[in-house]
Amino acid sequence: MIAEKVPVTTQPGPVKPKRASQLKIIPAAKELQTVVERWRRGRKKIGLVPTMGALHDGHLSLIREARKTCDRVIVSIYVNPIQFGPQEDLADYPRDAKRDIRLLRAEKVDCLFTPTDEEMYPAGFDTRVVVNEKYTKPLCGESRPQLFVGVATVVAKLLALTRPQRAFFGQKDYQQCLVVTRLAADLNTGCEIVMLPVVRETDGLAKSSRNVYLNEDERRAAPAIYQALKLAEGMLQVGERNPQALLEAVRKRLRSESLIQIEYVSAKNADTLEDLNILAGRVLVAIAVRLGKARLIDNSIVAVPTGSGSK
Ligand code: AMP
Repeated sequence: MIAEKVPVTTQPGPVKPKRASQLKIIPAAKELQTVVERWRRGRKKIGLVPTMGALHDGHLSLIREARKTCDRVIVSIYVNPIQFGPQEDLADYPRDAKRDIRLLRAEKVDCLFTPTDEEMYPAGFDTRVVVNEKYTKPLCGESRPQLFVGVATVVAKLLALTRPQRAFFGQKDYQQCLVVTRLAADLNTGCEIVMLPVVRETDGLAKSSRNVYLNEDERRAAPAIYQALKLAEGMLQVGERNPQALLEAVRKRLRSESLIQIEYVSAKNADTLEDLNILAGRVLVAIAVRLGKARLIDNSIVAVPTGSGSK
């Protein structure tokens, strides 16, 4: 059989203009809105990754997912003062703009929004976004009562400014994901909140901008947080259904590192943050500790079949 000859043409096809993938660095809200409007008119799918900078692989995992699934990627870097309490680390929070910009360029991010405080909260700014205390009062809300009002307010502003179809958050801050998911739905933002898994160091410590606060001894002790979560996962898998027994075992593992001070160890319904009498359904095991100057959080969500268990 003779193969049909495909006509060969020497004419080049229509040249598709290549999109310049230059990082736009925008400190002004108005300019950001102009860019966003243009993208929306062009029917571009916009992805937002809100961060406080000092970027690490956890942030990059969110940016890569945004890059994969959206036409335009906006990363915000803003250390939001209203989510910090008076005794917290706002002044010391790690900042490295040059390195961050280099990383964002390498990831082919389209836009970096880096507002000043005056840009985000100009004179006369007088609004706070409050999500039901069911989500904001327990866990991190107990020791940081201002945290989720600050987070909800800044995220609502960022969603209004960037009008993304998708916004990307990390499970490391699971309670934050719940709060932001609630507000994105309740305020009709049309934005899907995407939660991505915790990115860890090889020894299990969750990557965090605050890990730089750890000295050598503290850094050696820190993986106990992950090991305690693994212990909880194992206990749930072999049928532990008693919250007190589980939490006591987790605390004991953490106490084996004398440098670790426990802030909370908690097991809750992962969807409602309600306490559990019996460990069943989607169980959130959440830990917050102080280790030297650092406050570190981590969590694990385990799907426990209802009615199962040997204990
Ligand atoms: P931050 O700059 O700490 O406010 O974090 C910005 C975003 O990155 C939040 O959605 C965090 O949950 C997420 N993130 C921080 N650390 C990690 C990590 N280790 N793995 C995955 N996401 C993370």
